Amino acid sequence: MNKKKRIVIALGGNALGNDLEEQKIAVKSTASAVVDLIEEGCEVVIAHGNGPQVGMIHNSMSNAENIPLYVSGAMSQTYIGFDLENALREELLKRKIGNMPVATIMTQIVVDKDDKSFENPTKPIGRFMSLEEAKEVEDRLGYDIVEDSGRGYRRVVPSPSPRRIVEIDSIRTLVESGQLVISCGGGGIPVIEEENSLKGIDAVIDKDFASCLLAKELEADFLIILTAVEKVAINFGKENEKWLSDLSIDEAKKYIEEGHFAPGSMLPKIVAAIDFAGSKEGRAALITQLEKAKKGIKGDTGTRIHM
Ligand code: ADP
Ligand code: MG
Repeated sequence: MNKKKRIVIALGGNALGNDLEEQKIAVKSTASAVVDLIEEGCEVVIAHGNGPQVGMIHNSMSNAENIPLYVSGAMSQTYIGFDLENALREELLKRKIGNMPVATIMTQIVVDKDDKSFENPTKPIGRFMSLEEAKEVEDRLGYDIVEDSGRGYRRVVPSPSPRRIVEIDSIRTLVESGQLVISCGGGGIPVIEEENSLKGIDAVIDKDFASCLLAKELEADFLIILTAVEKVAINFGKENEKWLSDLSIDEAKKYIEEGHFAPGSMLPKIVAAIDFAGSKEGRAALITQLEKAKKGIKGDTGTRIHM
């Protein structure tokens, strides 16, 4: 009998919606796309983003500005896990797959305390402020503040590289016993190792990079990044736009140099895909639309990145 294909799925913003109402609805179609892959015979592990959710949690605690971002991040993992887990359970039962436990794992990811992103924070988070307000929190709380695309001032935090998933052994044990695991939410809670303790830090690990590390650690066959577009394009949004079905690592690197992928959206996905596909013989990555996951896994759509 063939061994099941192990797939790590990275869910993007469209899988979870932008607020409480939207998330309740979005998780239903997300669950359906995930269970499609399980029905196709794949062993699935889920990771996801948390942008709007962590923003909402963090902003609603703005009366207590000393609440660290990593605390809001931890809250967002369980909040998203609550909705996603329940939608998955419902979908599994609906399709008569009654013997698959679903579990959300609070996940911390160790980053280097010397990561060079700490010198140059670039990731905007939280609410928009006036210049006056921005200067006040800059002085009082030591935040780094930038002007964000003409919309006002925002706090920026570093985006360090993920080094080690703290809960990886627990995740692996659950996956290997046939459970459906949700982990590395929002790219994981970034922590720094200090002797015997893990210290939370105010930073955001890109969920595409965290998912790549998870896929490598679990010896997955496939990293599937599910987002809002069916395929990756070169000359995206231009007249000569060209959608790609197949992309070798060398081609992908060339297109990065030529600037085809937007930083902060498609670029981290391509970088994660290259990293995973190049990490061992037989591994490949797929970038496609959430609703097209089933077609994608059969090789009928999406952009496949390979050695
Ligand atoms: P997610 O929440 O899934 O991480 P992002 O918005 O961060 O989604 O990234 C996906 C988006 O990247 C797409 O919806 C698309 O608008 C944009 N994008 C930028 N460059 C490209 C490209 N070259 N090909 C396809 N999509 C691109
Ligand atoms: Mg993104």
